[in-house]
Amino acid sequence: MPTSDIGLDKTLADLGVTQPEQVALRFAKIRVHFQEHFQTVHDESEWKSFRDRWLGRKSGVLTQITDNWLKPATPQLKRAVGASLNELRAHVESQIEARRAAIESGAEESALARERVDLSLPGFIRPTGSHHLIRQVFQEIEDIFFSIGFSVVEGPEIETPYYNFEALNIPEFHPVRDDMDTFYLELPTGAKTPLLLRTHTSPMQIRTMEKQKPPVRVIVPGKVYRRDNPDATHSFAFHQIEGLAVDSDITFCDFTGTIEYFVKEFFGPSVKTRFRPSYFPFTEPSVEFDVSCPFCGGTGTAAGGGTCSKCKGAAWIELFGAGMVDPAVYGFVNYDAKRVSGFAFGIGIDRLAMLKYGIDDIQVFFQNDVRFLRQFP
Ligand SMILES: [Zn+2]
Repeated sequence: MPTSDIGLDKTLADLGVTQPEQVALRFAKIRVHFQEHFQTVHDESEWKSFRDRWLGRKSGVLTQITDNWLKPATPQLKRAVGASLNELRAHVESQIEARRAAIESGAEESALARERVDLSLPGFIRPTGSHHLIRQVFQEIEDIFFSIGFSVVEGPEIETPYYNFEALNIPEFHPVRDDMDTFYLELPTGAKTPLLLRTHTSPMQIRTMEKQKPPVRVIVPGKVYRRDNPDATHSFAFHQIEGLAVDSDITFCDFTGTIEYFVKEFFGPSVKTRFRPSYFPFTEPSVEFDVSCPFCGGTGTAAGGGTCSKCKGAAWIELFGAGMVDPAVYGFVNYDAKRVSGFAFGIGIDRLAMLKYGIDDIQVFFQNDVRFLRQFP
């Protein structure tokens, strides 16, 4: 109801009010109006505008009554108007205060209701991830070597040519560097040494022997890089575990025994192993290590007849290279080549994982397709 409807913008004389009873009637109307308005107040902002409309100093209803009705009232009506106004003011103020308290406690209650936890509700199920297959194979191989006294060391993926090549008996212009072409870092002019992404985990052989006197028994898991064009069996980044054992009495028998133990633990006790002569600059003698094909039982024939697709009928699968540490390498780390001997090997993790789990494309390791990853929970 606008203020004009209850005559607040007019004087009592204009409204034709001349008797105290008429004054009482006018105030009764205002109370009804107040009650109606009061019903619509439910929250803090409604309460504020309600309070301003009734108690506002400039144009609140009570101020208008004072200005338009009380002040210009005739002496015989002034007393009645003043008394009714005081009653009305007391009523309005107490009602407004009561509503404020009600709104405040209501707000607290609903805030409490929002915070209350319903313990009977079902919980959130968050899917847990799993280790990448490469990580799982690392772990499997590490566990096997842990069980025979090796420990794990890790090293930088960015290396100097000295650690990646020279100290491993691969001088500049050595032809093997062609196979190990890699990525070089762009450095400011005048940098002390070029930096490259390591092509194998072998630099850690040198770093470990520099820090530690024999006996040394370590494996080095990690990422390595080469400038290979990606295809089903090549990637510019792949994974290796380097192994190194150096002591005063390590023989070729210790070497073959260790490797055989590892292969039988990894592929199962029925596989056979064989060595073929090979060449690596940092081992002498060097071997390529083969395992009898675990898929066709070393027969070269698939279970359903025909040629075994894994070994292509060869019955043997080439696993990795290894050998006795070349005495020249000891010269780089101040070991006495006459008193110590040892062996080293470099296992390609991706290749082993592909063999063991029947994966025919190395690229799937890097594509992070969850349909692939979920097969190895
Ligand atoms: Zn086979």
